[in-house]
Amino acid sequence: MSGSSGGCDNFNIKTHSITDDYIVLWKEKLGTGITGPVRPCIKKDTRERFALKCLMDGPRAHTEVKLHRLCSDHSNIVRVLDVYANDVLFPGDPHPKARLLMVMEFMEGGELFDRISKESGFTERKAAKYLRHITEAVYRCHSLNVAHRDLKPENLLLKNNSEDAEIKLTDFGFAKVDDGNLQTPHFTPYYVAPQVLEAQKYKSKQRKGVIQTSKPYTYDKSCDMWSVGVILYIMLCGYPPFYSETPSRHITSEMKRKILSGKYEFPEEDWKFISDAAKDVVRRLLHVDPGCRMNVQELMSHPWLTDAPDTVLQSPAVFSNKEGLEDIKLAHAEQLTQMRLPDVSITLKSINESQSIIIRKRKHRQNSQEENSAET
Ligand code: ADP
Repeated sequence: MSGSSGGCDNFNIKTHSITDDYIVLWKEKLGTGITGPVRPCIKKDTRERFALKCLMDGPRAHTEVKLHRLCSDHSNIVRVLDVYANDVLFPGDPHPKARLLMVMEFMEGGELFDRISKESGFTERKAAKYLRHITEAVYRCHSLNVAHRDLKPENLLLKNNSEDAEIKLTDFGFAKVDDGNLQTPHFTPYYVAPQVLEAQKYKSKQRKGVIQTSKPYTYDKSCDMWSVGVILYIMLCGYPPFYSETPSRHITSEMKRKILSGKYEFPEEDWKFISDAAKDVVRRLLHVDPGCRMNVQELMSHPWLTDAPDTVLQSPAVFSNKEGLEDIKLAHAEQLTQMRLPDVSITLKSINESQSIIIRKRKHRQNSQEENSAET
């Protein structure tokens, strides 16, 4: 293994071999995500155990590392200890591959919903405690203008197996800076996501005083809040708010319609014992209009977070059906994919650059008209 050059953000990225400092247990895995397995590793000088995420070196990995590290110094965010840019020789592969290796604190307690599935006497109060941890994590990110954009149960890990273990947020692979300044192009957008148009409309209404609020339209942050609402709903009853009548592992148009229209219910048989305050939090988080959805500061000061009752919830029993739990996770991940805005700066070309036949014809027509009017 040897050092390699990094990419855009090389600050504090080590280029000497990780094996100088850590023993990596390449054959073991703590979990697997879209970028591959997360493996255990041991710090040579202290014998402490850590988790190692191995990312293909490139701009996207550098953004992940940069934003994760930016948010990392907080009790509800998984801490990043070290980052190495190394050429890694994987077993069975003759060619070394450029990788960013991220050493993180080891989260021994595993994923949130697996933990809940093992809890006896899981109450609203306990769910509110978990929600407080999640809210603290989101607060940390949003106050640094970072939207996480992948808030799902697999990315909420418990520090250990003790009763009072902290929940910490991880995986900044989709994180993005969101300061309310949507990249709205100054040339005519021939393609733009409907959400961007919604944001422009919201801003214009704000300017004209039609909307009496100074809340900036931070679409990506508001998606995080929607996700928190979905996670809370599931913690309270064991199933998701938006689901399709026809069972499918993929998002159906029926489900999309339900999400877009904000159509979900609190079925009486499962929700009759759940407090009105808990339902109020869910309603405010799943508000269909992102501009009106509760933001993280508002969530932090909601009374349910500190004053939830001791009502026992049915979710652990529902989660014990492993296949059902996998379906819930897949559906949530799929919904998040649908909600992420395309990167406007990448998808949009200026008209001058466009190769589109329609645009080229229109430009040609415009040029001829200008030439004609200049001649007359
Ligand atoms: P990806 O970005 O590839 O989806 P994640 O960062 O979400 O990868 O990690 C994948 C899985 O690995 C997690 O769902 C979890 O089970 C496990 N994992 C990740 N980070 C840690 C950690 N710090 N400690 C223990 N397990 C972890």
